[in-house]
Amino acid sequence: MQERPPDIRVNIIVGDQMDNAIKTIYETVKVRDPNQLEFHQAVEEVLDSLGPVISEYPDYIDVVHGIVEPERVIQFRVPWYDDEGNLHVNRGFRVQFNSAIGPYKGGLRFHPSVNLSILKFLGFEQVFKNSLTGLPMGGGKGGSDFNPKGKSNAEVKRFCQSFMSELWRHIGADLDVPAGDIGVGGREIGYLFGMYRKMANEFTGVLTGKGLSFGGSLVRPEATGYGLVYFAREMLATKGKSFDGSKVAISGSGNVAQFACQKVIDLGGKPVTMSDSSGYIYDASGIDREKLAWVMDLKNNRRGRIKEYADHFDGIEYTASKPEPNHNELWGTNVDVALPCATQNEINEAEAQMLVSSGVIAVAEGANMPCTPEAVEVFLDNGILFAPGKASNAGGVATSGLEMSKNSLRMSWTREEVDQKLEAIMVNIHKNAFETAEKYGMPGNYVAGANIAGFLKIAESTMAQGIL
Ligand code: NDP
Repeated sequence: MQERPPDIRVNIIVGDQMDNAIKTIYETVKVRDPNQLEFHQAVEEVLDSLGPVISEYPDYIDVVHGIVEPERVIQFRVPWYDDEGNLHVNRGFRVQFNSAIGPYKGGLRFHPSVNLSILKFLGFEQVFKNSLTGLPMGGGKGGSDFNPKGKSNAEVKRFCQSFMSELWRHIGADLDVPAGDIGVGGREIGYLFGMYRKMANEFTGVLTGKGLSFGGSLVRPEATGYGLVYFAREMLATKGKSFDGSKVAISGSGNVAQFACQKVIDLGGKPVTMSDSSGYIYDASGIDREKLAWVMDLKNNRRGRIKEYADHFDGIEYTASKPEPNHNELWGTNVDVALPCATQNEINEAEAQMLVSSGVIAVAEGANMPCTPEAVEVFLDNGILFAPGKASNAGGVATSGLEMSKNSLRMSWTREEVDQKLEAIMVNIHKNAFETAEKYGMPGNYVAGANIAGFLKIAESTMAQGIL
């Protein structure tokens, strides 16, 4: 057998030394890409959970060794002209992380903060998330440092067309199927799909989150937010609790936040906060259906700021963000359930402490990695029900998986059928994470349960196929 290069060699060892082998892999990740802090954070969280699995299946250490390196990373130039005729040059990326169990699948993010570290963290998370859905999807992620905020429709269209004029050659219905994420909603997916169709000269289910008139799935826009609340409902039920009558803090006011809010209302809960990167609103009387419809119009059609909610409705408190854009006092609100649905690392240790002090029962991540590792520790140490995003926000990609099947089969399901399938998938992910945590001696630890359950399926497929 060929030796691995010494710098990345990990000896196959057993027992207590196994933890050291995992640590060596983590150290290698850090040394290789010292500036990719978000990626390190995501890797550390997963590797921290895998000790008991590697003790049971020592051969899987090779899978761990391979899984932290993306199979392929594509970076490209995205030139486009604004409405005044000025040239802008952005960076485009696609990280094709792991295809052991199916074609790469994961969203595209358009946000000025996008860089390789963020996309590698998101792609890595996606690998485990997609595995947890039980559907045959590998993991990937992509995007650009383009900021759609404040751009005209025509500018967004020109950008999307330029982006896809390169990306199209790297994706395909059986190869890599992107979707939306921050800054990429129905409008962007439409422009991206149009350009793909022109370049590839084929109409195929290469993107998900498409409009209903060209192959999209009912309930896809709602799926991540609805799925999050289905997962949180299951988690609450393990303690004999429910959303009925509970106060809920939601951050963000984009796709995930909007539909999480809607489902909380459906289940009898009272959402009291929403936010954007400028600040948050607190509505003591609760965000009801009518107010939520107003927020949806504000955000999806008028592309306004959440501050306008406080100007429009009576008795609302608005608090601007602290200088660090993704931190504010939203988490000091007295609530039963917290659903962070904006962005990564939006709840730090101090903010987690505030939630615990105010008596929160459950925290479920709608965004990807919104809680720092220190915040997660606070929740786990205090016996708070805590759902990691890779389990609780998997409803979006699960419904994308259904959209892929629907496109391949050239058929469709009703809204009720898709919602029922989504709910069943979320109930199953909850059960899987819950039972896996129990089996590996960490009852109630959904972080470990989700990481291990997601990993096991990939490890089995990887060993069967060989590490390539
Ligand atoms: P949207 O772009 O629709 O909404 C994002 C929301 O978060 C906006 O309110 C935005 O405010 C706010 N936000 C973004 N960045 C920051 C920041 N740095 N600080 C404070 N607020 C911020 O995105 P989505 O709702 O689609 O995604 C939200 C999260 O959910 C992301 O982490 C995403 O990866 C995750 N997710 C999304 C899925 C989906 O199906 N859409 C699936 C699974 C996970 P502003 O407008 O001011 O920027």
